[in-house]
Amino acid sequence: MASPRGTRRSRTLSTEALAVRIHPYAESSAIVVLLTKDLGLTRAVAKGAKRLSNGFRGPLDKCVLHNVRVSRRAREGLYHLTSASVREAFPRLRSETERFFAANCVIEIAADLMREEEPNEELFRLTTYTLKALDKAPRERIGLAATLFLARAAALSGHAPEIKTCVSCNESLHGELTPYLSPLRGGALHAACGQGEPGARPVAPALLELLAALWRHAPGPILTMDLPAASLRDLRILLEGWLESVLERRFRAAAPMERELARSAKKPRRSVG
Ligand SMILES: [Zn+2]
Repeated sequence: MASPRGTRRSRTLSTEALAVRIHPYAESSAIVVLLTKDLGLTRAVAKGAKRLSNGFRGPLDKCVLHNVRVSRRAREGLYHLTSASVREAFPRLRSETERFFAANCVIEIAADLMREEEPNEELFRLTTYTLKALDKAPRERIGLAATLFLARAAALSGHAPEIKTCVSCNESLHGELTPYLSPLRGGALHAACGQGEPGARPVAPALLELLAALWRHAPGPILTMDLPAASLRDLRILLEGWLESVLERRFRAAAPMERELARSAKKPRRSVG
């Protein structure tokens, strides 16, 4: 639980955080961009972060869930990071490249979906849940964990496409053989309604059904399902493009993740317990 504390002149808060980016700052400090449970996306100055002798256990690691304490005086813009400790480590994200690239992509997209200083605890929980899954899941399920994250993160941030009813005529899309998808209109359309819509593209109905299934079932059971890797990849790429369109962002970590997952799929399958 968060424990806000403070006077009129300063505010101190303890929360859980993931490091998104770390920029060197001044002589021995850093500005860290944090994804937090209680403050949404936030920036904090970590004084002396490059020295190992202070309260930090080494520099903030991307593949670790931290307990942090931050404080800010009334008229200051940035928080000061006053302490950070490891809450949960995900060691295989560091040691296996496909897990690392997937984690990097998940953190980047979570940071783009999270608003500054506006908490979204469900999105934060989904992100840490996904990092745990990427750390623990058998290698052949990494793509599934990443696709599941994209599907649910889109919904938790209010950016999910409407896929049940046509966003143009409001009639059901049930049975539509060649639905279209339009980021501009916020969802799917009948072929007849989508043709001629600027930016609308045809989409395989099976991908919309897969997306509905990822929303319908709880994440735990989904991660044990045998879903076809090619459809999961196609849905991932569809959702990446969708979110890039609605957010007007480019996810730099998405293409490297896809390359690593494709490379990983060619490696001999092994059983991971
Ligand atoms: Zn329609």
